[in-house]
Amino acid sequence: MGYIEPAPIKDKENPLESMMSRFDAAAKLVGISDEMYDILKVPARQVIVGLPVTMDNGSIKVFEGYRVIHSNILGPAKGGIRLDPGVHLDEVRALAAWMTWKCAVVDIPYGGAKGGIACNPREMSAGEIERLIRQYTVAMLDVIGPDRDIPAPDMGTGPREMAWIVDEYSKAKGMTVNNVVTGKPLVLGGSLGRTEATGRGVTVAALAAMDKLRMNPYRATAAIQGFGNVGSFAAELLHERGVTVVAISDISGGYYNKSGIDITAAVAYRNKNKGTLEGFDGAEKISNEELLSLAVDVLVPAAKEDVITEDNAASIQAKMIVEGANGPTSASADEIINSKGILVVPDILANAGGVTVSYFEWVQNRIGYKWTLDRINRRADRVMKDAFDRVFDTSQRYQVPLRLAAYIVAIDKVSSTYKFRGGY
Ligand code: GLU
Repeated sequence: MGYIEPAPIKDKENPLESMMSRFDAAAKLVGISDEMYDILKVPARQVIVGLPVTMDNGSIKVFEGYRVIHSNILGPAKGGIRLDPGVHLDEVRALAAWMTWKCAVVDIPYGGAKGGIACNPREMSAGEIERLIRQYTVAMLDVIGPDRDIPAPDMGTGPREMAWIVDEYSKAKGMTVNNVVTGKPLVLGGSLGRTEATGRGVTVAALAAMDKLRMNPYRATAAIQGFGNVGSFAAELLHERGVTVVAISDISGGYYNKSGIDITAAVAYRNKNKGTLEGFDGAEKISNEELLSLAVDVLVPAAKEDVITEDNAASIQAKMIVEGANGPTSASADEIINSKGILVVPDILANAGGVTVSYFEWVQNRIGYKWTLDRINRRADRVMKDAFDRVFDTSQRYQVPLRLAAYIVAIDKVSSTYKFRGGY
């Protein structure tokens, strides 16, 4: 193979290595050529920028920002921007590739990208974050664009940051360009249903998987790790569908109540309590590790990557894992999880509801018309259910777990599209 890979960061659990090992396994099963393997492996574009920002105390701090376009074979690249102290190039590359596979799995006409800035937004003022996001937008003016690469929220960003990107990008273009990002505030061309879309998709995927296992949601229990935009909506919606959510968690730790947590109360508490569950008294305090090993029917890791590893996989007792986060299970844990007979609904399928409604937002912006919430939810649910069925059928045909089946669906779609388009 022609491409010489730069030496990866030798982390114990490097998300890029996890992504690549699944990609390798699926690529073999699909039987793509060595050339196609290289085309799908090497990101189309990788940009690293230094971002000097004036802090509130007058000093200037320089942050490192990234944007990786993994592929634009299926259409303009799509993917969120992450603000987190742990952001590094390999992580962004893995997340960008996951966006390519995710969009292909749900059959929406986008390639994959991801952005990130290494910073700790919890320790920054709103003004500092705003200046950082505006600097990032200016630095990426020739990378992003409504027909080129469309950012969205990810960890540490939300509608507020998207609005600043619209503003900065629009100033540079001399006109309002609101479809340069998705996940915007409603008044700025955001879509109804976008905020809860990922959690809703996780719920649709979980219910579809429960159906396959003949598990009755009204008798099922769930533990949800992460109580942000994905985990808290997944908790609310699973609860609405009859599932007893016995445990939730966030950075302040885990909360367990064997007769079920009052999710509405937990959400209200978090909203009043500076965004954390610290001090929530509707449950007994447990650690994040304890939450992962609870004997529940459904475990939803919805925090970040590499929380289920070879070190703790053996202790998992859930019957099913539905991955709300990107890359929560490291590749080294796959074999242990599979040998225990745990059904895993993989990230690139389970959390694709977010980008699906992002796509609907972009479509609405293009046609200049707003869809109703009912129309959006019905269409998004259908997209998720069709994708689940496609992946499930593929897993039966190839006799492989759902994760590998999802990669097979994605690689097959992107590689056959490339063949039609051709290259130099
Ligand atoms: N950050 C989300 C994800 O990982 C959403 C991306 C988007 O809507 O473009 O899927």
